[in-house]
Amino acid sequence: MNSFSYRNGVLHAEDASLESVAEKYGTPCYVYSRAALVSAFRAYSDAFSPRDHLVCYAVKANSNIAILNLFARMGSGFDIVSIGEMERVLKAGGDPARIVFSGVGKREDEMRAALSAGILCFNVESEGELERLDLVAKNMGKRASISFRVNPNVDAKTHPYISTGLRQNKFGIPYDDALRLYRKANAMENLAILGIDCHIGSQLTEIPPFVEALEKILLLVDELEKEGIALSHIDVGGGLGIRYREERPPEIADYAKALLEKLQGRPQKILLEPGRFLVGNAGILLTRLEYLKHGEEKHFAIVDCAMNDLMRPALYDAYHEIIPVKQNGGKGELCEIVGPVCETGDFLGHDRNLAARQGDLLAICSAGAYGMSMSSNYNSRPRAAEVLVDGASLHLVRERETISQLMAAEKLVP
Ligand SMILES: *Cc1c(COP(=O)(O)O)cnc(C)c1O
Repeated sequence: MNSFSYRNGVLHAEDASLESVAEKYGTPCYVYSRAALVSAFRAYSDAFSPRDHLVCYAVKANSNIAILNLFARMGSGFDIVSIGEMERVLKAGGDPARIVFSGVGKREDEMRAALSAGILCFNVESEGELERLDLVAKNMGKRASISFRVNPNVDAKTHPYISTGLRQNKFGIPYDDALRLYRKANAMENLAILGIDCHIGSQLTEIPPFVEALEKILLLVDELEKEGIALSHIDVGGGLGIRYREERPPEIADYAKALLEKLQGRPQKILLEPGRFLVGNAGILLTRLEYLKHGEEKHFAIVDCAMNDLMRPALYDAYHEIIPVKQNGGKGELCEIVGPVCETGDFLGHDRNLAARQGDLLAICSAGAYGMSMSSNYNSRPRAAEVLVDGASLHLVRERETISQLMAAEKLVP
């Protein structure tokens, strides 16, 4: 299903024209489709419905509370990497008992807050964290449920910056250390072992690395069983890729089938941590073309959004389709689509064929994941507004930031 389509030559989100969104809320503006969010969640959850499972949406992909609330209403759990994310989930009506807490640098105060809230489990990523958590739990008179995030040393075959399951990455505990650490955890008084977890990277477009990682995890599960350490869940992580351009990511049904086959006959509940898949293609970034500038070597289309609004092109050299909101049938010319930020790395797209005039609206596609959540105020640019479309209704789910908000926490010296 595509919730963004042209009607009479004008790009719509569901039944709302993006021209009407720009008129009402200005640009740059993130625009999400409720139907696309709901259908992605259902597709993911349905694919695993033959088994007892819990989808824990990876909040960092897009942490707007309206989106978290939509997922919470569908029974979603959440994968958080900070207490800020936990507070967002709670504010959005998420169930703390469905939260898993990942991340390599959990602070003591974060552990305390998560224990107080009663989260499902900590995905422990180091021996130091294990010891600290045991102590924090002890001081609170609580027992912390844990799962180890194991690094299976599998090549996810994705961009190096979003590859997390290789021996040289900072994530998870080393595979060969896992048994020792489980034994150690098992002997700790203030911890309860709940599961095992792995997450090997993001934007994976092939199934085999997922299967390879799961096979290695299952070997550990068997070893643990032999030692009398029974697990209640297996968390297979997230990372399933989406289509930005010509990628051919696996169908969710095929991905689920491959994993479920391996998990057959095992009693554990299955946990999943999808981020990008649930939100990536449910959002676009709406921007206005400010200037067409003809350089000596290149033509530039200068738009009113920039790397501070959508960092993925600058950070990963990521590709996002960029299309005009109003089809004008013009021939177009090759141009660099760039923002106003003072960095040569501030581009949204290289060498794009663009038929547009100054003042036209453009849509940067597949911007729902790692778009707004990675945005910053660089160059003192207030962050964009976010609008969620439901049929023909527009809901402003985050107001455009104001200049005074940017400076609100700053003070002069006497
Ligand atoms: C980022 C992250 C995810 C989600 O990754 P996607 O590629 O967006 O699906 C899941 N689990 C952990 C631990 C993560 O850090």
